[in-house]
Amino acid sequence: MRNFEFHRPQSVADAVTLLKGNDAAKLLAGGQSLLPILKLDLAQPSDLVSLAKIPGLKEIRSEGGDRGDLVIGALVTHDEVASSPEVRQRIPGLAALAGGIGDAQIRNRGTIGGSLAHADPAADYPAAVLALGATIVTDRRSIAADDYFTGLFQTALGADEIITAVRFPVPERSAYAKFPHPASKYAVVGVMVAKTAGGVRVAVTGAGSKVFRLTALEQALTENFAWRAASAVEVPPGDLRTGGESSPEYLAHLVQVMAKRAIQACQ
Ligand SMILES: Cc1cc2nc3c(=O)[nH]c(=O)nc-3n(C[C@H](O)[C@H](O)[C@H](O)COP(=O)(O)OP(=O)(O)OC[C@H]3O[C@@H](n4cnc5c(N)ncnc54)[C@H](O)[C@@H]3O)c2cc1C
Repeated sequence: MRNFEFHRPQSVADAVTLLKGNDAAKLLAGGQSLLPILKLDLAQPSDLVSLAKIPGLKEIRSEGGDRGDLVIGALVTHDEVASSPEVRQRIPGLAALAGGIGDAQIRNRGTIGGSLAHADPAADYPAAVLALGATIVTDRRSIAADDYFTGLFQTALGADEIITAVRFPVPERSAYAKFPHPASKYAVVGVMVAKTAGGVRVAVTGAGSKVFRLTALEQALTENFAWRAASAVEVPPGDLRTGGESSPEYLAHLVQVMAKRAIQACQ
């Protein structure tokens, strides 16, 4: 690990100022993805800008009454999402997903904002934000989940843009099923299903170079919300990653199995 300047700004505006015009500066949230990268010398930031002292980024709140959105601050840890009475009551599928991330250390330090900024193709939260139709709120705009994930570890965030919160519409029902890697618990394949008054959304993580929606299954489930629908749906081969430990055929099979489990868990 190389030397760097460490900053603890007290506001989002001050953090943006530290990032602006300095391509070699990096934000630090829980450090669970960034620190391994620094230890392996895969990045050499000149400055680390910690979000830890900025007030207001650790809140979980409902906006707009009982039917309103659930808003989770960027610095809320995976464990806080998993154990929050509000998340467990309003979106139990999201609380369960957060409780299945990594191990206790990862869940105690890792944050929802850090996970979404890092955009690992096998991370769990991307499936939740895409299936739930969430909005990523930054210091300057709101980005719909459909527009947010742009490629392998790529997002729509600008270089000096900071995620401040994630806004989740509350579904009627939702559930996540994951086939975890036995060592890291990252998703080999994870499927999130969300049923709302407007229809069903299904998002798949782990199987491709980025999270993607299964629109054919969404249509089938909107017509008839039954787990058997997953058997009839083919995963477009172009969405699946190639060249890893898992063949595209195996990944497609896992997508079907995880989708069935998620649908059953919703019922
Ligand atoms: C062994 C291991 C197992 C894991 N298992 C899983 C798993 O099962 N499922 C899973 O989903 N994840 C898993 N993770 C990843 C973990 O969830 C990380 O905590 C998470 O991906 C990053 O969050 P963080 O708060 O630690 O971010 P950091 O590591 O601090 O930052 C990650 C990146 O995001 C940027 N960043 C951080 N916060 C913001 C923000 N608010 N706005 C803009 N940019 C920001 C940083 O500059 C950095 O580039 C695992 C990690 C490890 C090391």
